[in-house]
Amino acid sequence: MEGARFLHVDVRRPDLRTAFPPRFAARLKGRTVVRLDRRAKYLLAILSSDDTLVMHLGMSGSFRVDPEAAAVDPGKHDHVIFSMSSGFVVTFTDPRRFGFMDLLTPRQLSADPALSRLGPEPLSPEFDAAALARACRGKKTSLKAALLDQRVVAGLGNIYVSEALHLAHLSPSRRASTIATASGAPRPAAIRLAAAIKQVLNAAIARGAGAYRRGDRFRVYGRTGERCRMPRCGGTIAQRTQAGRTTFYCPTCQR
Ligand SMILES: [Zn+2]
Repeated sequence: MEGARFLHVDVRRPDLRTAFPPRFAARLKGRTVVRLDRRAKYLLAILSSDDTLVMHLGMSGSFRVDPEAAAVDPGKHDHVIFSMSSGFVVTFTDPRRFGFMDLLTPRQLSADPALSRLGPEPLSPEFDAAALARACRGKKTSLKAALLDQRVVAGLGNIYVSEALHLAHLSPSRRASTIATASGAPRPAAIRLAAAIKQVLNAAIARGAGAYRRGDRFRVYGRTGERCRMPRCGGTIAQRTQAGRTTFYCPTCQR
């Protein structure tokens, strides 16, 4: 898609999770994708019109890329089809339709509540123990809730928050402010946690997409009742509900 023009845009329903913006296909057609980018879980295509195509996979969305000659008839769950000048057909498939697409002007992009207030990317140099401690300073919510808050750190979801807290030996229900001093400096817990977040994400990227569906390599996620994998712990993984999400943790080694 990068450097290619939209030759044809086929939008096959009026909405995904939300309605497509007005004239969605018409505003894409003929435009070039100047650059592809990502923020948190949002996929961004910056266009020659200065608009940004914002795409989100939701729970079950995916993109398929076919050479034009090999493209087949769209299936029931193929909702958006981009025919690009590069000779590729890019199809968005989403059986459950929790994904979405939007087309934002620069002004809309900078004012967008979801995109403009995102915290640092967890694997960027900007995200470290100091940044994490600053964001958690004085926060009365649980550490679990703080890490799921996209303004604290961008793009972490339920699975990797559970995993990182286990690796860092920190309880998900611990108050977020306890990892920072009163002035917002990092305590040792913040140093462990920032490193653990980077470690679990890097390991997940190395394993490749789809690992979470197999559920085979998690430390705590989905392992209720199983023995804790932390060396010399001997605890049993428990689960509880926090803010409507299931949290998996070891009550023995996570404090
Ligand atoms: Zn344990």
